[in-house]
Amino acid sequence: MATKNQESTGLLKLLEDQVADIYYAEKQLLKALPKMAKAASNDELRTAFTDHAEETKGQLERLEQVFEALGKPAKGKKCPAIDGILEEGNEIMDEFADDAALDAGLVAAGQKAEHYEIASYGSMCAWAEQLGLDEVAALLNETLEEEKGADEKLTEIAESVVNIEAEEGDEEDEEELVDAGGGSSRNSKANASNNKSTTKAPAKGASAKNGKR
Ligand code: FE
Ligand code: FE
Ligand code: FE
Ligand code: ZN
Repeated sequence: MATKNQESTGLLKLLEDQVADIYYAEKQLLKALPKMAKAASNDELRTAFTDHAEETKGQLERLEQVFEALGKPAKGKKCPAIDGILEEGNEIMDEFADDAALDAGLVAAGQKAEHYEIASYGSMCAWAEQLGLDEVAALLNETLEEEKGADEKLTEIAESVVNIEAEEGDEEDEEELVDAGGGSSRNSKANASNNKSTTKAPAKGASAKNGKR
């Protein structure tokens, strides 16, 4: 039980600290997601970012309920991790602005943010359960599931379209090289990509499935 004028310690203190951290992170994400949506050229990807921005509003409200249940004012604490993740996202948006791989880079940037959130909500949820704070645990778990859903959606988009479009962009570049008298090793690659739309090819890079080629 959190009483107002008493300093928390241990796991409760840690929970309060991390709730403030993620509250700040969600606010930054609420600003960043519409920018990522605007940068995306794939419709599905743009919609995924826009939908998740809407979801993020609800997540902020849920965190405000968490603060209330903990008897604390809703106040964020600077999270250098999310600032860094979003800064890298901005770098991708700049450096790949005119590149066919931009969307693949945006998926990766989005997934880095989602994975940070999943780690944070997962831990906080376990602590709240441990502390017997059932209402808090339920609120955090609801958001955790949304973050997992957002992450899975991005994997799906990467595997079905974005990575393939990025690679086709590469092939167009190579074609220009061929026209200009460059190498001629693109036939096997073109054949490989023809199969992809029907066989659900493994994603290259931008999905969260590490270790898969
Ligand atoms: Fe979130
Ligand atoms: Fe943080
Ligand atoms: Fe990095
Ligand atoms: Zn999220």
